[in-house]
Amino acid sequence: MLSSLFEMSFQNLGLSMEFSNPQEDLQGRTDAVVLLSMLLRKFGAHPAILVVDGEIYLAGVGSIFGCAAGRCAITTTFGLSRGAWMNVVMHEIGHILGLDHCIERCLMQPAMNEEEVERRPFALCEQCFWIAREKQRGPASEYDLHPVP
Ligand SMILES: [Zn+2]
Ligand SMILES: [Zn+2]
Repeated sequence: MLSSLFEMSFQNLGLSMEFSNPQEDLQGRTDAVVLLSMLLRKFGAHPAILVVDGEIYLAGVGSIFGCAAGRCAITTTFGLSRGAWMNVVMHEIGHILGLDHCIERCLMQPAMNEEEVERRPFALCEQCFWIAREKQRGPASEYDLHPVP
């Protein structure tokens, strides 16, 4: 099953992943900020991703596939193929790692619709890769910077 598969693999990364079906509003959508603050209260500084299957929205923006704050993120599977959802999850993990949006051909490109998600590569551009790496481990050591080819 999707949830157990991902819960296990993300646990190995020290990342919690929760699946739930939250209460929807009258238009059948859930406010992403409400979910995100719930998650932040529960997990705080521990990285966590909440996965829901309903439509989520951000006030002033409209429907979204995912969003992140601090070390927590939410994503929805709503209207996305499995591959596209996985891309959104990886993108949100990028935010959790401290990356901002990027204009290069890169996992951190913002996407406004499923087509844009489908087009977005699964890999970080070189600049984002190094930013993420530095944020995770501190400055690269001489050894890391010059791996044996
Ligand atoms: Zn983003
Ligand atoms: Zn990038």
